[in-house]
Amino acid sequence: MIQLMHVSKKYGRNYALDNINLTIQQGEFVYVVGPSGAGKSTLIKLLYRQTLPTKGRIRINKFDLTRLKARQIPFLRRELGIVFQDFKLLPRLTAYENIAYAMEVTEKNPRLIRSRVMDVLSLVGLSSKSRRFPDELSGGEQQRVAIARAIVNRPSVVIADEPTGNLDPATSLEIIKIFEHINQQNTTVIMATHNNEIVDQRPQRVVEIVDGRLRRDESKGAYKNAA
Ligand code: ADP
Ligand code: ADP
Repeated sequence: MIQLMHVSKKYGRNYALDNINLTIQQGEFVYVVGPSGAGKSTLIKLLYRQTLPTKGRIRINKFDLTRLKARQIPFLRRELGIVFQDFKLLPRLTAYENIAYAMEVTEKNPRLIRSRVMDVLSLVGLSSKSRRFPDELSGGEQQRVAIARAIVNRPSVVIADEPTGNLDPATSLEIIKIFEHINQQNTTVIMATHNNEIVDQRPQRVVEIVDGRLRRDESKGAYKNAA
């Protein structure tokens, strides 16, 4: 379970987030929507402890992020998979190696690494392209590798910041279906997105942030409020 309690984040005198209260149960799929500058990325960065709130508390599973010591951050991150708009793959490693590298940090058994990497490559439909380098893959394929890397350590939560921001509509839909598949295995998915077509086509819980405030929270919401 994820809980934000009275969370505010200030940059200088400006509130990027202002008194956010939010609870997300294990296995939920949540879109975080809102205009540019609303505070979506700030919320995502708080969740993976890239930044700390100015006020309030954040809990993810057994971790109290506001009390977490620096040396405990890796233990939190092991329970999280993170996906970015620009993929952030290592350019000199193949698809396979990008994924294995994420695992080798935590796991030493080479046979287990090999079978898990092949499993996640298959899940994202890229078994045949394991030897390609990032610049030999399309944008959609690179994002699939990034998703495979995010899930290879079997996180309880996958966090994505505009994962379809660089992708065309058809490719975006394929990427969302992969997130839905991951979600069906009881992994929580939290996705900040501007992609109104996807949100309207694949309804899930919608949390809307405007000017740093929680404006709307609907269990099967649309991108825009009908009202
Ligand atoms: P979104 O992801 O919804 O576009 P952000 O979370 O990136 O919004 O930004 C929310 C607000 O906080 C914006 O006004 C932005 O300019 C400001 N902001 C974000 N990050 C920083 C930072 N590191 N330093 C100063 N201001 C920031
Ligand atoms: P990203 O560009 O990936 O969102 P960060 O938000 O961490 O990265 O910001 C990178 C650097 O740019 C930081 O030093 C941050 O203070 C600064 N920065 C980011 N957004 C703003 C902003 N809206 N106003 C002022 N500084 C910002």
